[in-house]
Amino acid sequence: MASSSSSSSTEHTKFSILASLFNWISKTKTSSRKRSKFRKFIDTFCSPSDYFSAVRLILPHLDRERGTYGLKESVLSVSLIEALGMSRDSPDAFKLINWRKGGANATGANAGNFSLVAAEVLQRRQGTTSGGLTIGELNGLLDKLASSENRGEKTSVLAALINKTNTQEMMWIIMIILKDLKLGISEKSIFHEFHPDAEDLFNVTCDLKLVCEKLRDRNQRHKRQDIEVGKAVRPQLAMRVSDAHAAWKKLHGKEVVVECKFDGDRIQIHKNGANVHYFSRNFLDHSEYAHGMSDIIVQNVLDERCILDGEMLVWDTSLNRFAEFGSNQEIANAARDGLDSDRQLCYVAFDILYVGDTSVIHQTLKERHELLRKVVKPVKGRLEILVPNGGLNAHRLPGEPYSSLIAYNMDDVEKFFKEAIENRDEGIVLKDLGSKWEPSDRSGKWLKLKPEYVRAGSDLDALIIGGYYGSGRRGGEVAQFLVGLAERPAHNTYPRRFISFCRVGNGLSDEELDTVVSKLKPYFRKNEYPKKSPPSFYQVTNNSKERPDVWIENPDKSIILSITSDIRTISSVVFSAPYSLRFPRIDRVRYDKPWHECLDVQSFIELVHSSNGT
Ligand code: ATP
Repeated sequence: MASSSSSSSTEHTKFSILASLFNWISKTKTSSRKRSKFRKFIDTFCSPSDYFSAVRLILPHLDRERGTYGLKESVLSVSLIEALGMSRDSPDAFKLINWRKGGANATGANAGNFSLVAAEVLQRRQGTTSGGLTIGELNGLLDKLASSENRGEKTSVLAALINKTNTQEMMWIIMIILKDLKLGISEKSIFHEFHPDAEDLFNVTCDLKLVCEKLRDRNQRHKRQDIEVGKAVRPQLAMRVSDAHAAWKKLHGKEVVVECKFDGDRIQIHKNGANVHYFSRNFLDHSEYAHGMSDIIVQNVLDERCILDGEMLVWDTSLNRFAEFGSNQEIANAARDGLDSDRQLCYVAFDILYVGDTSVIHQTLKERHELLRKVVKPVKGRLEILVPNGGLNAHRLPGEPYSSLIAYNMDDVEKFFKEAIENRDEGIVLKDLGSKWEPSDRSGKWLKLKPEYVRAGSDLDALIIGGYYGSGRRGGEVAQFLVGLAERPAHNTYPRRFISFCRVGNGLSDEELDTVVSKLKPYFRKNEYPKKSPPSFYQVTNNSKERPDVWIENPDKSIILSITSDIRTISSVVFSAPYSLRFPRIDRVRYDKPWHECLDVQSFIELVHSSNGT
C-alpha cells in the first residue's frame, strides 16, 4: 500500500477532484476498487497534516466539528429556490418542493431523490464548467452555513456555493449537507482503508478530527486507546434473537442477567465535577437534559469523574410509573422553563464505564454492577440503577414485575419475558454477566428479545383514506397509506365519516402494494392543502404528518387493510383518533371485506381499554 507521502495541501485541492471521486465510487461495483480509489485520492491530493478537511466531506454524518445545518429537504428546497432567484410558482420551484413526487422527465426517474431533482433544476441555471472551488473554501462556506441563524444568511451561502460550482459539484455538496452521500461503501471500509486503527479510535472518541490527526501514517500502528470522560463512546449494542430458547442457547453456560428493555433515549452521562454531558447514540450532546437532570447527577453520583450508560425516560409521579415513549423533549423543555408537572426526567443507569481516573469497561458486567451500586445513590423517579436484587427492584411492590433478575434456566427467561409483555414493556435484554463492555459491538454479549407483532385479525381492519408518495425506488408512486376508522354508524346504516388513525407502509410485497395502488389510482385526488380542505367525510387534524399527498375521493371505492402492531398503542396527538398504533404493519389486504365493514372508533377504544386492563 502506498504511504502517505503527498505534499499536496488538502485545503487547496479542488473540490472538483473529490466530486469526481464520488462519481467514480458511486458507479463502481466492487468494494475493493472503491477502497483503492479512495486510498489513491488520499495519497495524491491530501496532505497528512490535514486529512480531516477531506475526510469530513466523505463521512459527513460523523463530523461533529460544525453544528447542524438545520436544512432538511423541505427547508433546503425553499433556500435553493431563493438562492437561484426563482419564482415560487415556477415549475422548477414546484419540482423542488415536491421532490418526492417526481422530477422533470416524464418517467419521474429522479422522484424521491432530492439531490437528483435538485441537479435537474440546477442544470438549467448552472454551467458545466467548475467554478474552481477548493476543499478549504467549501469547508469555510459550510461552517458559515451551519453557524448562520436565519434562512436569509443560509440562502446567501448557498448562492455563493452555486456561483463557485457546476451542477455535478453542487449536487454532491447538497448530499454533504444532507449527510448522506449514497456511495455504496461502508463507513467501516473507509476507516479501514484510511488506517487499520481508525475505526477503533473513532469508536472510543467519536471525534473524526482527532482520528485524522492522530493516524497520519498508515504504517504506524496506534496503541489501543481507552475511553475518557467528556468524549462520547459508541455504545455497546444488542443482537436481536427470535425467542427465549434462542437467547438461552446463545448464552449457554454463561451467567446471565435479564433486564427490562426500557423505551426511552439511550444516553451516556459524562460527569466531570459539576460539568455534565448527555451523549446520544449519535454522539450528539443533548444539553436540553441539563436543566432537569444535572443537579441530581452532581449530587448523587458520588465520584467526581464518571461515565454512566443508560436510558433517559420520563417518570409520572401521579401514576407512579414510567410514562410512555415520546415525551422526553417536552418534559426537558418544561424543566427548562420551570413549569410544574407530574412528570419528570428519570435516568436509569444500567452500566458504568468510567470511575475516578479509570475506564472500567474491561471489568465484567458483574463487577460493573457492583461499581454502580457504590457510585450511584438512587433517587426514586429521578435517578435509578438497574442491577439484580436491588436498584429499581427495591421499589417493587409484591406482584409487580422485576426490572432485572439473574436467570438460572430458560424458564426464568420465558417467565420474565411474559411478564414484560404483560406489563407492556418494549421487550427484554439478556446480558452475559462475565462480559466486558465493548464500543459498537453487536456480537451477542447483549441479546434483545421483543414481542412479535400481535395479529389483531379482523379487529383492526382500517380503511385507506389517503396515500403518501415514497422516495428512492418508489419515488413518484404511492408507497404508504393513511388509514381511518369509521365513526360508528346508526344501526343498519353505512358509516358516513372516517377518522384518521395511522400511517402505514410496511408489510406488503412490492407486487401486493402495486395491486392496491393501481386499484385505487382512479380515485386519488391530489391533496391541495391549504387551498382545499380534505373531502368532507374525513376527519383529520391539522398536523403535517397527517397530510397525505392524495386523498381517496370515494371511500366507498376504497380498500380495507388489516393492521397489526406492536402490542402497545400510543395516545395520539397526531391523528384524529384518540389512539394510534406503534410500529404498524399491514398484515393483509382485505379484498374480501366491503369498505363499510371497517372497524369503528368506539370498538377500537374498547379494545385498547380491555387490553390495557382499564
Ligand atoms: P432498538 O430499536 O431495539 O432499541 P437499537 O438499534 O436502538 O434497537 P440495540 O443496541 O439494538 O439498539 O438495542 C438496545 C437498545 O435498547 C439500547 O440502545 C438502549 O437504548 C435500549 N435499552 C433499553 N433498556 C436497556 C437495557 N436494560 N440494557 C441495554 N439497552 C437497553
